[in-house]
Amino acid sequence: MNKKPLGLGTRCVQAGYASGKGEPRQMPIIQSTTFKYETSEQMGRLFDLEDAGYFYTRLQNPTNDRVAARIAALEGGVAAMLTSSGQAANFFACFNICEAGGHIVSTASIYGGTFNLLAVSLRKLGIDVTFVDQDAPEAEIEKAFRPETRLVFSETVSNPGVKVLDIEKWAKTAHAHGVPLIVDNTFPTPIHCRPFEWGADIVVHSTTKYLDGHGSAVGGAIIDSGKFDWNAHADKFPGLTTPDESYHGVTYTERFGLAGAFITKATAQLMRDFGSIQSPQNAFYINLGLQTLHVRVDYIRKSARKVAEFLASHPMVAWINYSDLPTDPEHALQEKYLPDGSCGVMAFGLKGDRAMANKFMDSLKLITIETHVADCYSCILHPASHTHRQLTDEQLREAGIPHDLMRLSIGLEDTEDIIDDIRQALDNAC
Ligand code: PLP
Repeated sequence: MNKKPLGLGTRCVQAGYASGKGEPRQMPIIQSTTFKYETSEQMGRLFDLEDAGYFYTRLQNPTNDRVAARIAALEGGVAAMLTSSGQAANFFACFNICEAGGHIVSTASIYGGTFNLLAVSLRKLGIDVTFVDQDAPEAEIEKAFRPETRLVFSETVSNPGVKVLDIEKWAKTAHAHGVPLIVDNTFPTPIHCRPFEWGADIVVHSTTKYLDGHGSAVGGAIIDSGKFDWNAHADKFPGLTTPDESYHGVTYTERFGLAGAFITKATAQLMRDFGSIQSPQNAFYINLGLQTLHVRVDYIRKSARKVAEFLASHPMVAWINYSDLPTDPEHALQEKYLPDGSCGVMAFGLKGDRAMANKFMDSLKLITIETHVADCYSCILHPASHTHRQLTDEQLREAGIPHDLMRLSIGLEDTEDIIDDIRQALDNAC
C-alpha cells in the first residue's frame, strides 16, 4: 500500500529533523567548526568519500543538512545543500556542470544580480551566455542553443518583472538538447509551485526571501530532483561522469548514483574550494522561517491580491503586472503552475514622470524603500534606479524591465493599512 505523503504544512514544521528521547524538540544549532574522530583511518576514509560524516563545517554541518533536507522535502527533491546566499546557490548550481568553454541559455527576465553573474562574472570564467525572451517563438529559442550549451536557467516567477515561466515548455526544450533546466523558485516558494513536478531538474532559492521571511538571514539553497540522467549525456558533463583526481579518482555518478552525484560534487568540490557555506546560526533562522512558511505565504498572497485590485482600479496607475489578477496576461500560466496563487510581489507603473514616481515612493509611510523583497515587511523599489542600475537601457529592455516599473512586495501587515498608505502617497504625489 502506498503511504500518503505528508502535507506541505507538516513538512514545513517537521521534515528533516526528528528528536529522540530526551533530545531537543527544536532543531539544535551545531555551532562547531570541526568534528572529532577516534582514528586517523576514520578521518582518512571521510577525505576519500568512502564514509559519510562531518569533519569541517566549510563542507557540511548537521544543522545546515537538516534544514536542506526540509527544503528538499518541500520541493520533492532527493538531495539539497545550503549556501551562504542565493547568489552563491546560483553560481554553484551553474558552475557544478558548466566550466570554461561551456555555454548557458537563460531567460532574459531574471533578477539583476543573477543577470550580472551570468553576463559578466561567468563570462570572465570563460562561460558564455545567451539570453532569450521566455515567451519567444520556439524557432528563436532553438537558435540560442549551441553544441557547448550545458544548462538552461530561469525563474519560476521572475524578479522584478513577475513573469510566470512555462516550466514544462522550457524543461522539454532543455531536455531535447540533453541539458538540465535549473529554476530559481524563490518567489513562489514550494508552497505555491514545485518545479520538479513540471520537469525542472535543479531548483535554487534565495532563502533570504520568504523561506526566512523575517529579514534576518541571507542564505541560499540548491535542490536536486535526482531525475536528470548525467550518464546519458556523459560527454557534456565530464565533471560528474569521469574521475575527479582531487578525490582520488572518484566518479560522482558511479559512486553516488543519480540521486547523490550533483549535490555531492557541489559539496565535496565547490564548497571545499570556494567556501560559501551558510552559517549554522543562519540555517537555524531559516528553520524557524520554514516552520511558518505555509501560513505566511498564504496570508501574503491573499493580501497582495487585494492590494493589486486596488492599484488596478486607481486612475493614476498606468499598468500593473500581477498574475493573480484574472485580467493579467500571465494568468493562464499561473492557473496551470500556481493554482493557489503566486507570491506577494507585483510590478506597476504610474501615469506620470520619474519625479512623480519618486514623490510617490518618498510619500509612503508604512511601506519602506528597500533593496529587499518577499519577507514580512511591505516594501517598494524602483529597479532602474536601484537593483538594476548597472544595466544599460538596452539590457533593461532585454530583461523586460520598463524604466517606470516599481516593484511592490506585500508583507504581513494588515491589508487595509497597506492600501491606506498607498492611497495617501498617490494623493500626495499626483
Ligand atoms: N534569486 C532571486 C529571485 C532574487 O530575488 C535574489 C535576490 O534578490 C537572488 C536570487 C539572490 O539572492 P541573495 O540576495 O540571497 O544572494
